[in-house]
Amino acid sequence: MNDSARLLKQFGLRPKKSLGQNFLIDNRALDKIVRAADVTTDDVVLEIGPGLGSLTQHLAAIARRVIAVEIDSHLIPVLHSQLADWTNVEIVQGDILKIDPATLLREATTYKVVANIPYYITSGIIRHLLEAAIKPSLMVLTIQQEVAERIIAQPDDMNLLAVSVQFYGSPRIVTNIQAGAFYPAPEVDSAVVRIDLDAKPRVAVKSVDTFFSVVKAGFSQKRKQIHNSLVGGLGKPREEIDRLLQAGNIDPKRRAETLTLEEWAGLANLVDQGSGIGK
Ligand code: SAM
Repeated sequence: MNDSARLLKQFGLRPKKSLGQNFLIDNRALDKIVRAADVTTDDVVLEIGPGLGSLTQHLAAIARRVIAVEIDSHLIPVLHSQLADWTNVEIVQGDILKIDPATLLREATTYKVVANIPYYITSGIIRHLLEAAIKPSLMVLTIQQEVAERIIAQPDDMNLLAVSVQFYGSPRIVTNIQAGAFYPAPEVDSAVVRIDLDAKPRVAVKSVDTFFSVVKAGFSQKRKQIHNSLVGGLGKPREEIDRLLQAGNIDPKRRAETLTLEEWAGLANLVDQGSGIGK
């Protein structure tokens, strides 16, 4: 029996599949994750889903402060017992999707996110952090390998998540983690993705809201040609969308997956120009 299984048994608990509870039990994997975030003694780290506290301990050994947000109230006593010696750790019970990170930071103005996040809300958590009023400077996330590959995809193979992440920062896969590094082992392999967030979006847009309404409209109908998805997604007459695409120099028959960030920004800025196109 591994330490995590023993600890759960001691507290009369079982891993909850519904909360994506696959606990990291491999010390080398934990070290790699902490190293990928270049954690220093100056850092405030937000950990999402500390679980049984294994990653939290590795972070607390280096960081100035670790704020660990766990949704499962049954794990809170386990975390208090495991982290009792670490005075730089704050354990918060709650759903990260309902918490504005700014409310956890107190005097801190910058923070890093390091987390082994549940697969079922990966996109939701990433979007929540990207849209936060105070965004992290860096995120190191252990996620499903397939999703990590989607996030770093390039035009011809983009999706809404890839555009959103690459609008705000630069993602790269740091390492892969085999299923055996977790208890219980998940059915899929995982990857550690590092996303460095820039102070400003990577393409110049007049309005971030318009940028995302155009991108969301573009991806609203899978694998359709861009003129059809924009007509449906923006709810505008076809002639207007055709004029918009022509002005943006985009072939109306292309698919959303093929557009570059610059092309999306160009379309959004045309919509914002007040030219009547797309508005
Ligand atoms: N960090 C631990 C580790 O590496 O062993 C646990 C990782 S486990 C994949 C995901 C953790 O996220 C679980 O402890 C789960 O209860 C927690 N969790 C799930 N949904 C959450 C949410 N919305 N907010 C905060 N924590 C959540």
